[in-house]
Amino acid sequence: MPRYEYRCKACGDTFELTRPMAESSAPATCPTGHTDTVKLLSTVAMTGSAAPTSAPRPSGGGGGGGCCGGGCCG
Ligand SMILES: [Zn+2]
Repeated sequence: MPRYEYRCKACGDTFELTRPMAESSAPATCPTGHTDTVKLLSTVAMTGSAAPTSAPRPSGGGGGGGCCGGGCCG
């Protein structure tokens, strides 16, 4: 189960919660009882946050043309 880090804006303390990923954005309550908290960047390995969204498409090159495979070349 992933671990998330939160910071309480009331007391300025940071705390960690181990919760399901589905509840990562759910409101977290600091150990002191404050509810005014913000979620920090997860401490688990999550790389590529600044990577562009455009994924490199695989190079084609042969195949899928319809010729040489459907019997049209023979
Ligand atoms: Zn607090």
